[in-house]
This record gives sequence, structure tokens and C-alpha cells, in this order.
Amino acid sequence: MFKTEYVKKVYEELEQKNPNEKEFLQAALEILESIEPYVLKHPELEKNKILERFVEPERFVQFRVSWIDDKGEVQVNRGYRVQYNSSIGPYKGGLRFHPSVNASIIKFLGLEQVLKNSLTSLPMGGGKGGSDFDPKGKSDREVMAFCQAFMTELYRHIGADTDVPAGDIGVGGREVGYLYGQYKRIKNESVGVLTGKGLSFGGSLARTEATGYGLCYFTEEALKTMKKDSFQGKTVVVSGSGNVAIYACQKATELGAKVVAMSDSNGYIYDADGIKLDIIKEIKEIKRGRIKEYLLQVPKATYHEGAKGIWQIPCDIALPCATQNELDLEDAKALVKNGVLAVCEGANMPSTLEAAKYFIEHKVVFGPAKAANAGGVATSGLEMSQNSMRLNWSFAEVDQKLKEIMVQIFQNTYHTASALGNPFDTLAGANIAGFEKVATAMLAQGVY
Ligand code: NDP
Repeated sequence: MFKTEYVKKVYEELEQKNPNEKEFLQAALEILESIEPYVLKHPELEKNKILERFVEPERFVQFRVSWIDDKGEVQVNRGYRVQYNSSIGPYKGGLRFHPSVNASIIKFLGLEQVLKNSLTSLPMGGGKGGSDFDPKGKSDREVMAFCQAFMTELYRHIGADTDVPAGDIGVGGREVGYLYGQYKRIKNESVGVLTGKGLSFGGSLARTEATGYGLCYFTEEALKTMKKDSFQGKTVVVSGSGNVAIYACQKATELGAKVVAMSDSNGYIYDADGIKLDIIKEIKEIKRGRIKEYLLQVPKATYHEGAKGIWQIPCDIALPCATQNELDLEDAKALVKNGVLAVCEGANMPSTLEAAKYFIEHKVVFGPAKAANAGGVATSGLEMSQNSMRLNWSFAEVDQKLKEIMVQIFQNTYHTASALGNPFDTLAGANIAGFEKVATAMLAQGVY
């Protein structure tokens, strides 16, 4: 597994200190394994205990969130914020509201975010947060009550130059609006303390579309460079049907591909004629319904219970955009057997480590999450710039900047991987390119 005593020791200590934190240890293992060649060449990292400090969050806050539901009953949830690393800028990263949220998930997302934000080339450190609150099935008033209670605790830890949260699973425009309103009420300040805000109160054009669009810009550049190919005429499978999946589907279609399948946590739909995205948007964005309702409007399509089967569908390009560990080795084998050209990750850590390694071994164009889905946080960074300047850029301006950032992230990842001897090992390319900047900043700032 590890080639150096130093990295092995750091991982083993992490295992001892964080037993049962499966997702966190999985993310740390992937990162530590792949940055070994860099660590070997830089003995100053061990001397200054940079890895030990890099894997340990600067701050981890857990708090109680009590709120009142529509029946008048008190509900209690658990809230989290990890402020992982601020060496290159204020902590930045989304909030996830989902029943599965726990310390392990928040820490895995936070650690990934540190390297992702570094890759964007913008001055942003890494953080993440959330709660085990489930917005599904809750009324608007309940969601508002929860968000207000959540922010009543979180506000003391964040700030426009300290820590700037955004959305993630279960946190979209509605939730960000309620959270921002409560922050403003408590602090009496209109500042860019959250991103993903509504357009009428400081949000950036193209932020909603950014992660999905950015994923496609990254994939297009990767296909062009590594396979002399493009989205044009390709069959695409997108998992999920949330914010990332919807705009990935939209951009892939605009670039000339046909998206034939999408999913939610209950199952997936297959439409050989190409998914009609306006129907998905209506079901998911307006009605907050289930994906199987697609069949009510497109009876020729098919619905399959259970989301996992989606990777058995033959496709040229796979874009996992739902959640962590949704694509395992068995799925990776099916995709490769069916001739997949590219697998680029819209979700965070959707492929297990075995699946990611299988793609790399089989020379599939692989876009690891921290590189391929960095368009969301990059555009959040652009929202922060606009808020600081009290200016709004046009959609085209933001979209152009996003495109340039995604091309630069791909090229940085690809060149770093090539310099290591395997241009297909984008996992190592992304981890090393992201880590180098963070480690250099940590070394320069002295022990903290
Ligand atoms: P949303 O809440 O908007 O959507 C999540 C989607 O994934 C929903 O369709 C949900 O279905 C589905 N889903 C959840 N769990 C599963 C599962 N086990 N199997 C299949 N589908 C599932 O979240 P986002 O689109 O914002 O986030 C999706 C992923 O992208 C996450 O990993 C997130 O961390 C990552 N990401 C998001 C960014 C952003 O800007 N929003 C930025 C970078 C990464 P259901 O409706 O049934 O719950």
C-alpha cells in the first residue's frame, strides 16, 4: 500500500485516532497514497510534520440544532462545521443536509475540499459542514425554522473573510436564502458570508449551473487532449437528478451528446431518445417529486427500482453526480466492458478507490471529483469577488471565467500526472497539484 515509512505512519495514526470513520479514512488513504512521490522528493515535509498537520482539521465544531415542526413538536438535530485548512485563504465549502451526515462524512468532504479549492487557483482554504436534518418531506416553514436555528449557532464561527459556506446535497437556493436571512438578522451585516445566494441579494449568475457546466468543460478538455474526441454524438449516463446532475445533463446535451439515463435515491430512468430535461426540472426543482414520475409524461421510457443498476447501461461517457461510493469495482468493470471512454465525477468521491484505480489501469479518461467538480466552488469564489467589489458580472462573463478555470484545472492535473510517468493517473495528478500549493503555503507560514 505505502512505499514510505513516513506516509504509512501518518495514515496509521489517523486510523487509530479516527476509528469507524470509514469515508474520512477512505479519502485520506487515497490522497496520502497518491502524494507519496511528491513527499519522497521533499524531506522538509516530514521535518515540519506537514502531513500530520494537513490531515488534522484546524477546527471541528459540532452543535445542537433545536427547532419546532408543524405539529408544534420540538425536533433536535446535530450540526457540524469543519474548518480544515486556511493556509491559502478563508475556509470555503458547502453545507450538506441529509440523514446520513456524520463526522466522518463532513471530514472526508472537508479534506477533499482543501485540495479542490487549491486546484481552482483562487485564494480559498477548505471547509465543510452540514446536519443530519432531512429536508425531504418537510414543509417550507419547517425548512425555514431549521435553517434559522442552524444559523443561530453557525454564525459565530463564519464570516466573509473567515469562512464562507455554500450549498451541497439538500442545500439549494431556498436553504441558502433562509440561512443568509438569519445571518443578516443576527449580525446586521450584508456581506458575502454565503455563496449560492439568490440573484436579487448578491448571488452570482451561473452559480446554479456551475458545477454541472464545469464538469462538462473539464470532460470536453480531457477528451480533446487525451482521446482527440469530444461530447459530440456520444451517449451519456448521468446519475442523480439534483443540482449537479441537471446542469451536467444540460451542458452535455448542448455539446452534442445524448443523455439516456438519470436517477434519484430510489431508482433510475432510461430514455433511449434522450432525457427531456424540462420534465426532470419540473419534477425535481419545482414539485420536489420522484424521478419515476418521468414515465407519466414519457411512457416509452423505463423505470428501474434501485439506483445502482444505472452503471450497467452501455455509454461512452459516465458522469456520476449523486453521492459518495455510488460506483464500485463491479460497476467500473461493467462500464469498461461496455467501452466507456470517460468517467468524470460530478459528485464527491462517487467512485470507490478500487473503481477509480480500475479506470486508470484501463486508460479510461478519469476526472477525479476534486478536479472535475471544482467548477461550483470556483464560481462561488467568483461570487465572493463580486460581493467584495459590490459588482455583478454578466452570465457570459462568469461562464467564460468558469470555462477557463476548468481548462486550467484539467491541464494542471494532466501535466502533473504526465510528469509522474502516467498521464491517465489523474488521481495522483490532481492530488499532487492541489497539495503542492497547500504544503508550500503551510511551510511559509510557520508552525500553527
Ligand atoms: P442535490 O441534493 O441537489 O441532489 C442530489 C441528487 O443525488 C438527488 O437527485 C438525490 O436523489 C440523488 N441521490 C442521493 N443519494 C443517492 C443514492 N444513494 N443513489 C442515487 N442517487 C442519490 O445535491 P447536489 O446535486 O448539489 O450534489 C450532488 C453531489 O455533487 C454531492 O456529492 C455533492 O457533494 C457534489 N457537489 C455538489 C456541488 C454543488 O455545487 N452543488 C459542488 C461540488 C460537488 P433524491 O432526490 O432521491 O435524494
